[in-house]
Amino acid sequence: MADFDFDVLVIGAGPGGYVAAIRAAQLGLKTACAESRETLGGTCLNVGCIPSKAMLHASEYYDAAANGAFAKLGIKVTPELDLDTMHGQRKDAVKQLTGGIEFLFKKNKVEWLKGLGTFTGPNTVKVGDRTVTAKNIVIATGSSVTPLPGVEIDQKVVVDSTGALELPRVPEHMVVIGGGVIGLELGSVWRRLGAKVTCVEFLDQILPGFDGEVRKESNKILKKQGFEFKLGTKVTKVDVNGGKATLTMEPAKGGAAETLEADCVLVSIGRRPNTEGLGLDKIGLQLNQRGQIETDHDFRTKAAGVWAIGDVIPGPMLAHKAEDEGIAVAENIAGLTGIVNHDVIPSVVYTWPEIAGVGLTEEQAKEKGEVKVGKFPMLANSRAKTNHEPDGFVKVIADAKTDRVLGVWCIASVAGTMIAQAAQAMEFGATSEDIAYTCHAHPTHSEAIKEAAMAVAGKPIHI
Ligand code: FAD
Ligand code: NAD
Repeated sequence: MADFDFDVLVIGAGPGGYVAAIRAAQLGLKTACAESRETLGGTCLNVGCIPSKAMLHASEYYDAAANGAFAKLGIKVTPELDLDTMHGQRKDAVKQLTGGIEFLFKKNKVEWLKGLGTFTGPNTVKVGDRTVTAKNIVIATGSSVTPLPGVEIDQKVVVDSTGALELPRVPEHMVVIGGGVIGLELGSVWRRLGAKVTCVEFLDQILPGFDGEVRKESNKILKKQGFEFKLGTKVTKVDVNGGKATLTMEPAKGGAAETLEADCVLVSIGRRPNTEGLGLDKIGLQLNQRGQIETDHDFRTKAAGVWAIGDVIPGPMLAHKAEDEGIAVAENIAGLTGIVNHDVIPSVVYTWPEIAGVGLTEEQAKEKGEVKVGKFPMLANSRAKTNHEPDGFVKVIADAKTDRVLGVWCIASVAGTMIAQAAQAMEFGATSEDIAYTCHAHPTHSEAIKEAAMAVAGKPIHI
């Protein structure tokens, strides 16, 4: 058998790639990871999950101080925005966490090959000036922003998510194109800091993929906070002149065009897999219609010795999905059994309140058979009520015959934390009764999950 430089070469050091590399090294495999960015951690740590949460966290406090939430608690303050310091703490979080991955690579003896990786043949990849061979190669190249035809991103007036994280001043009017996760999170940041925010969404409701009732209620709550929505509307053109943008929009189903003025436009209409320049033709690997690399259940591609994980393969583009696939692929390469249950991947939108879900939506569950649904409003949860957090609800969807939990959806200040117990329960095949009879600490927001589970059988206590 041929000698290889490495047992495993991972291309891309995002949450999929760096986790795969560390796990492979932990399993005793000689491992390298190619990354073309200056720092490790991929989209998530550099320009995604982490910096967006740094800005969401800081702007949430500013909003609470500026818009009366602190005053309600008996804290009188008149906040002054120091945007430079806010950006500084964002950059610091990114620096510390990306540096942390570099430390973990050293600790686990993962070699970082700096540069863009390109296949030059089977088992062979050129990274910068160096060509290396590996018995197993994991493609974890992630995704980048989907461009909108007719709209040029200049990162000044028209920005993508990376530009929207770094705006040097608060826009007067920000128009967000796309009412998905990025549009709502980054739109929230700038609305809280004082911008008027209008969200233009092609579909007739925001947050595609989420439970129908959750989409509707989220829309209502965000509107109450000051978001303006233009649903069922598509942007066809953005003209920039003298630092101002003029958007041309049309009803999605046809009709007269209208225009809208803004001093900042965020393009957030989705992300697409990174495969350009990878040299996939050198290993005979084709993409599917959506430009993704297809794999089998073990994350093997059709090319021998080549595996793929994360945003570059089908499935939700989420960091924790990529991480779990990273662990599974390394374990499969090492001859163990690595499995990801793609039916139980939680999804969280870090707005205020947070919006979270796992498993099937009510609509999807009903398509598969008869269901029972239990709902509990956060208004009736003692902790949420005490904290002046009345918005939202929890919904538990169970199979009508077996009572097995099929999906859980929450809108609550800490929905992202609450959804973990639902995911774990579903992973263990729990029934709604199992959740209802599990003792939950009082007073916690999580009690709303227990009550929603009790409501499946029609017996919640507090409503
Ligand atoms: P990536 O993180 O995209 O990493 C791929 C890496 O590969 C990149 O660093 C890239 O430079 C490198 N690369 C690409 N091609 C090559 C090559 N040929 N050679 C060498 N290196 C290469 N997800 C969540 O779960 N929670 C969140 O809160 C969240 N917030 C987000 C906020 C924003 C603004 C954005 C944009 C995304 C967010 N996401 C979030 C999505 C999350 O960032 C992605 O799902 C995740 O990063 C995907 O991980 P990955 O490892 O597949 O790819
Ligand atoms: P998205 O797919 O979540 O939303 C894009 C939205 O744009 C959709 O609602 C779509 O209907 C709309 N749209 C498409 N074309 C349009 C047009 N021409 N005019 C108006 N609207 C249009 O995409 P995103 O918000 O860009 O996020 C990209 C990815 O990043 C997502 O897959 C998401 O999972 C991930 N992400 C996750 C988090 C999180 O987990 N909290 C945060 C940010 C990003």
